[in-house]
Amino acid sequence: MSSSAVQASEKSTLQATIIPRPEHTISRKAIDSDALKVLYRLHSHGFLAYLVGGGVRDVLLGRKPKDFDVATDARPSEVRKLFRNSRIIGKRFRLIQVFFRGGKIIEVSTFRRPAEEDDSEVLSENNTFGTPAEDALRRDLTINALFYNIADYSVVDYVDGLADLKAGRIRAVGNADVRFRRDPVRVLRAVRHAARTGFTLTPDTLEAVREHRGDLCLCPTSRVRDELMRDLKGGAAAAWLELAHDTGVLYSLLPTLEPYFGPQDSPERARAVELLSQVDKSLAQGKDVEEAVVLCLLFWPVLEILAQEQEFAPGRQGRSQWALWVREALPALAEPVAFAKRIMERACQIAGLMGFVKLATPGQALPKKVVARGYYPVACELAHFLGWDLDGMGSPGPGKTSPKRRRRRRRRRKPRNKSESPS
Ligand code: ATP
Ligand code: MG
Repeated sequence: MSSSAVQASEKSTLQATIIPRPEHTISRKAIDSDALKVLYRLHSHGFLAYLVGGGVRDVLLGRKPKDFDVATDARPSEVRKLFRNSRIIGKRFRLIQVFFRGGKIIEVSTFRRPAEEDDSEVLSENNTFGTPAEDALRRDLTINALFYNIADYSVVDYVDGLADLKAGRIRAVGNADVRFRRDPVRVLRAVRHAARTGFTLTPDTLEAVREHRGDLCLCPTSRVRDELMRDLKGGAAAAWLELAHDTGVLYSLLPTLEPYFGPQDSPERARAVELLSQVDKSLAQGKDVEEAVVLCLLFWPVLEILAQEQEFAPGRQGRSQWALWVREALPALAEPVAFAKRIMERACQIAGLMGFVKLATPGQALPKKVVARGYYPVACELAHFLGWDLDGMGSPGPGKTSPKRRRRRRRRRKPRNKSESPS
């Protein structure tokens, strides 16, 4: 038997620690009712049915999970037959999406085995079906590798994930160095979960983060970009920025920021952390913040520094110069991460309008054609985060209307004018 085959057979016979229902805190009340339906139906047809991943982690932490994923020993075709409201997705590794009311999707995947035996340097997604133990061992972090078994409501733990969760540790499953080399995106995931939970990276995992952050450039740009967006919009962007700085991950992603954010006591980094913490607060209050706004806030302190080197003419001419300059400066800062063109365009548009505050002419109102632009409300939101009032073109002071209130008033005025005009 080859060494990899020996490893594989060891993995599949690994013993799980079973934590019975009275000894853990997962209540079915905390699990989405549609996810429960999926679990019960699989179980009643004789299949293993586990709640897996972030759903288990977040319920154990007393948080509301973003999504609920299910893993089973049923093959995709068998799962598909059990749920009429489902479809198979994925080419290499097929999984099932089960659809429920309100656009809710529960993803069901068949237990799969790690692709670590793969000879390639960076993980291929060409995995094959495996045992529950193998499925646990292919996961990124121990706190993300816990299973909840619907058959007896126990927690199934192959990786000492529960102990790490209780102790507040972020630890890679298996050998962190090997696992992060095989899939460097796990570097980002480790930092994200440490930032989100406030847990501490274990020394070996931290070392692997530092060692493999440079390998992020080997990953498909779309994966890195998507993961970064999840960090910025995940509700812990401020903590993420600090940890991404401490570990150097930030500068592997965006080396353009290092000269400004890199120094230990960088005021620009402190300002970016403060701006992102406002985004976190808004998200916690259930208010969505557009990606373009978050991007502008991340780069804003650096843009401000760079702007000081420019000479903008006074008044209208200066504002055009500002808008043109922002169109070059912002994409240049963000360039190492291939952000979606649509988002970058929107970021340039709204950052361009900030020229009306930065280079405001006293007493001058915003031109109507600017207010009429589709992205004007988003620009107002950006200004608001920056402590400005775009409507009033200055700092928001007492008595000044917020962008929302003023927009509403304008809408009401229209019908009144119409009814007045015939008389
Ligand atoms: P979130 O709350 O952000 O959704 P999550 O942990 O559920 O966090 P997902 O991206 O939804 O993250 O992934 C679901 C699960 O899949 C993870 O919990 C983890 O077990 C596994 N996983 C995701 N990405 C990887 C990866 N790159 N390597 C190994 N396992 C992964
Ligand atoms: Mg998830």
